[in-house]
Amino acid sequence: MECPYCGYELKCTDYYGKRQIAEHYWSYPQSWIEKEGDIFKCDNEGCDMYQESFYTDSRGELYERYPC
Ligand SMILES: [Zn+2]
Repeated sequence: MECPYCGYELKCTDYYGKRQIAEHYWSYPQSWIEKEGDIFKCDNEGCDMYQESFYTDSRGELYERYPC
C-alpha cells in the first residue's frame, strides 16, 4: 500500500475490526476481533502526512485518519 501523498510505501502498524462475543460461552465468555482492515502509517519524514494514520476497509480502499 502506497501513501497517496508521497508514494512512499506505508508501514502496516495494526489492524482493526468489530469485537465479536460468543454469547453461548456464557461461563467462559470468548471474544475476538473480526478483522475489517489494516492500519498504516506514513514513515516518510518529508511527507505532509508523516506519522499520520491511514486505514483500509474490507474492500481494500485506502482512507485517511484512524478508523473509529
Ligand atoms: Zn506520505
